[in-house]
Amino acid sequence: MKLFTIFGDPVSHSISPLLHNRAIRELNLDACYTRTHLKDGSNLRKIFEDLGLDGANVTVPHKENAYRQCDEIRGVAKKIKAINTIIKEKDKLIGYNTDAPGFYESTREFKNVKNALILGAGGTAKAIATILKEKNIKTTILNRSKNRLAFFEKEGFSCFDWSNFEKDNNIYDIVINTTSAGLKDNALPVPKDLLNTILKDAKYATDVIYNKKTLFLKAAQNADIQTKDGSDMLLYQGVIAFNLFFDNKLSLYDISKAMRPAFEL
Ligand code: NDP
Repeated sequence: MKLFTIFGDPVSHSISPLLHNRAIRELNLDACYTRTHLKDGSNLRKIFEDLGLDGANVTVPHKENAYRQCDEIRGVAKKIKAINTIIKEKDKLIGYNTDAPGFYESTREFKNVKNALILGAGGTAKAIATILKEKNIKTTILNRSKNRLAFFEKEGFSCFDWSNFEKDNNIYDIVINTTSAGLKDNALPVPKDLLNTILKDAKYATDVIYNKKTLFLKAAQNADIQTKDGSDMLLYQGVIAFNLFFDNKLSLYDISKAMRPAFEL
């Protein structure tokens, strides 16, 4: 039997065990997925080995720490320098980031996206900006403060904070909220006037926050923009991780079909 877990702090709220165990059952696989509350991220590798795991997901705040403890990093995670999935291959731990392709997969229904504006500059913004750049989508970053813009400037993105943002001639086909504004409160990710300017001419708006219609999404809907929340991103990062857990031999369609009903539980 294969054994998987999700490491996080907190981790009790995570629906990953529900998603993965449902897919394990539906696809008739011999495996089990648990959750592990990990306070000290520097112990992650030792606990992974002590538990005899075959793979794991990693959530806040351990994604960067986990990146440093793997033997090898593959794919976009090399750029992002944060991982959310670990696979044991022989005696080696291989790190992947499935948040980035998970986001991309979740927005494939949006057509003709050439320009994107990301609100926020944290870990999720890094993952999304990196995958959009890989897909040749011109991406601009707008954050509340300057502090976290250095990574994006180094990677060649146009970067602004609230004080110096000027909407250039570009129309942002998609505006993506990656801030935690709206997660536990009713805050907007940028001041209202600025938001109205940003949303003008946009075709799509997405929020990485899931299972909640944030004020940001409500504002976008009021501006007649097509919207979606972060549920599909969460689903697809799980689908892609699940396939990695099983040697990439399953069909993404079958996994997502098996996992999706877990959102309704
Ligand atoms: P980080 O802590 O790394 O970054 C938070 C960002 O939000 C920073 O840019 C910060 O700006 C900004 N911010 C926080 N509060 C406010 C506010 N009130 N107004 C404006 N900006 C604000 O967070 P993560 O990137 O790890 O996570 C962000 C969100 O993504 C969370 O809500 C998380 O739940 C969600 N998420 C969803 C996933 C999914 O699958 N759907 C996957 C992963 C994350 P500053 O630099 O100025 O502090």
